[in-house]
Amino acid sequence: MAEYTPMIKQYLTIKAEYKDAFLFFRLGDFYELFFEDAKLASQELEITLTSRGTGTDTERIPMCGVPYHAAEQYIQTLIEKGYKVAICEQVEDPRQAKGVVKREVVKLITPGTVMDGKTIQEKENNFIASVTDFLDETYGFALTDLTTGENFVTIIQGSWQDVINEIATTRAKEIIFSPDHSEENIKALLQQLAVTASLEPNEELPESFHSLVNKLEQKKLIATFGRLCSYLFRTQKRSLEHLQPVVDYSPTDFMRIDLHSKRNLELVETIREKKKKGSLLWLLDKTVTAMGGRLLKQWLERPLLNKKQIDQRLSMVETFIEQYFQREELRELLKEVYDLERLAGKVAYGNVNARELVQLKRSLQQIPIIISAVKELNNCYGDEIIKDIDTCDELLIMLSKSLKEDPPLSIKDGGIIQDGYNEQLDQYRDASRNGKSWIARLEQQEKQVTGIKSLKVGYNKVFGYYIEVTKANLVHLPEGRYERKQTLSNAERFITPELKEKEALILEAEERIEQLEYDLFLQLRENVKQYISKLQYVAKKISEIDVLQSFAKVSEENRYTKPQFNDERHISILEGRHPVVEKVLNSGEYVSNDVIMNEEREILLITGPNMAGKSTYMRQLALISILAQIGCYVPADSVNLPIFDQVFTRIGAADDLASGQSTFMVEMLETKNAILKASKNSLILLDEIGRGTSTYDGMALAQAIIEYIHDEIGSKTLFSTHYHELTALEHDLSAVKNVHVSAVEEEGKVVFLHKVIDGQADKSYGIYVAQLAELPNRLITRAKTILATLENQPSYQKISENLTVEGDKPVQLSLFNEGEGKTKKQVKPSSDEEKKVISSIKKLDLLNITPLE
Ligand code: ADP
Repeated sequence: MAEYTPMIKQYLTIKAEYKDAFLFFRLGDFYELFFEDAKLASQELEITLTSRGTGTDTERIPMCGVPYHAAEQYIQTLIEKGYKVAICEQVEDPRQAKGVVKREVVKLITPGTVMDGKTIQEKENNFIASVTDFLDETYGFALTDLTTGENFVTIIQGSWQDVINEIATTRAKEIIFSPDHSEENIKALLQQLAVTASLEPNEELPESFHSLVNKLEQKKLIATFGRLCSYLFRTQKRSLEHLQPVVDYSPTDFMRIDLHSKRNLELVETIREKKKKGSLLWLLDKTVTAMGGRLLKQWLERPLLNKKQIDQRLSMVETFIEQYFQREELRELLKEVYDLERLAGKVAYGNVNARELVQLKRSLQQIPIIISAVKELNNCYGDEIIKDIDTCDELLIMLSKSLKEDPPLSIKDGGIIQDGYNEQLDQYRDASRNGKSWIARLEQQEKQVTGIKSLKVGYNKVFGYYIEVTKANLVHLPEGRYERKQTLSNAERFITPELKEKEALILEAEERIEQLEYDLFLQLRENVKQYISKLQYVAKKISEIDVLQSFAKVSEENRYTKPQFNDERHISILEGRHPVVEKVLNSGEYVSNDVIMNEEREILLITGPNMAGKSTYMRQLALISILAQIGCYVPADSVNLPIFDQVFTRIGAADDLASGQSTFMVEMLETKNAILKASKNSLILLDEIGRGTSTYDGMALAQAIIEYIHDEIGSKTLFSTHYHELTALEHDLSAVKNVHVSAVEEEGKVVFLHKVIDGQADKSYGIYVAQLAELPNRLITRAKTILATLENQPSYQKISENLTVEGDKPVQLSLFNEGEGKTKKQVKPSSDEEKKVISSIKKLDLLNITPLE
């Protein structure tokens, strides 16, 4: 370092502490970046890379910079890309500095800790999380949303993948690890999710956070939350008074839906475009407040298991449907409520402005009206929601008395505080007003005295107040009446001592007004702080009412029905629909379907041609179950369901390409995940398992999976397949039933009816689909001939009949042993008789003999 200038040395010392962040180094009116930071930033921000001398002649340092007043947008861009930015300011007056100006990092901005800007979505939480690996298959997991002040903590029991699932559920933007955390795990996480990883060595809870963990007993929880707080404390360097007491939750209190299943079911975003539009959330979101939007998403990510809680929500939805007018009225009231949670966050953070406090005031005005509107609904659960709301009357009075209705954005230019709020302020304002009206009178008076009609009194920043007379009128001006101040091309400007005196009074008053208003505003803001936790409570309750009215509105608009629940593990859905597919089709186009499952129908094996609607049918069941368990009505004529503890799906494959695993491997991993974790009370959806490998391989696996679920787990399972051979399982496994998606032939073409009915599908639809796709006629005819021949081969008959048992394992007999059988176990012919038969079969010209032969 010896050869660098002192300033660069200072830079390097500070940078060493913020290796993983861009260091924005304040130099006069600019933030400068140096070395590698500069190279990367110039690319990411598309700004010019320059260089500067180092103090030696030989080396030049790469450098780039952004003006400080425009820095915000550049910082945002970097944060959006997942980077961190350390803001390093000059912390002493350069004029008083001896040597290099003292500089310090005043704030570290990271994706998980931004408070403003584009990355903060109205209807989404911005979570930052910490994970602790306790090396005994348990992980601590803590979550904070700095913008809303919410805190959660839990212990996750299981594998690292379960932790990744939980992180994905919360959509945390940034994860805090201890420095000794397994690199392999961090890598696996970063491969699957777009998050920023940060290290924090300290796990001790800073003093000021102690009150948040009063209710936590477990040391592990406190340590995990401690690490998170320690990081927040270290990076934010300011008050975090709005953080709410930690909620200790357990992932097993909710229906578990793993990461892939969530994606497959498109709960909050679509698989392909990763957009909200087209997802279940999009369909359900008729919330009118930002807080309600966030809560809806939280609910959707965590359906309930507790029947009482589900029924409470459903009863409110019912009431809201019955009382249409009250609901619509309430919606209008809710629309006037601003984002109380984030406003509270800003109050604590100290960056709330007067406009936002006016928003707070307007919101508070609505609360009593909303409460009485909810009371009028006469619903027990509604009463419970509003029971403990504190309407913060004194706060409302305080804000109403102090703030003007339409204050400016800036809090330093006055115009914020009402007349009558502060005596001193009123006096200054009087002085300023008097002065101004004196000046207004002056114009009239001088016009009369001089007889110059165009004489006017004006103001500009350089000369202050002046009297202006056009050149043409100068002759009428009595000599020596005013002092000449400025000459323009067609006018002269004058002043008088009295005018200057008044001007001084006005300016002084205005300066005092601005300062006093600023002080009063800061005081007010400080006073609002004591209401933060009350406001957060109101916010919670208002969001709940908002989500429930949203459920009611969606349910009514789409003719949903109230679900019932049973403990017998029975599913009875009559005329069920897929909520989103139904919505995007023209009205009347969606074909509704029943789902009946019970002791005799634990597993439904679904066959039918491609595009017939198999996976839609499967998703429909999952979505109806999820809707029911978040307490919403469901798209069907009548629904009776068990409460599912978990939902597993293996549907579609498009989303796995990025992770670098083969589709088949992913399919197997997800299947493993399902069969290891599922219970009797789970729902499993498997779509065409086994198609990623050779036919026999795949078919064998598929059958073994069905048998395993049937014998060992007993979960309700929908299994779609194009291996028609599997339909034979219906005879062997008591609780497996065949259903198929029907299609009819019209004028030689198939038409999908999308209707799911009992029994197995006709197998030749593949060829019809080919026909639909207009493959050449000759090819189609040929395919039909080949199919007819194949169907008569023994090898093509039900594979279950073709299984012989070797030890415990069923092994599949194949007639095509020699050519392809290396990986398969084969049964050796045991007698000469068998050998003879086999060899004569092999000699057959299969394509040219009749079935009878
Ligand atoms: P499969 O899984 O059998 O290949 P999909 O479930 O993907 O078929 O359905 C294919 C398309 O058929 C869907 O995109 C949808 O447009 C339509 N479809 C499926 N089910 C229905 C239904 N019940 N009513 C109307 N259209 C449907």
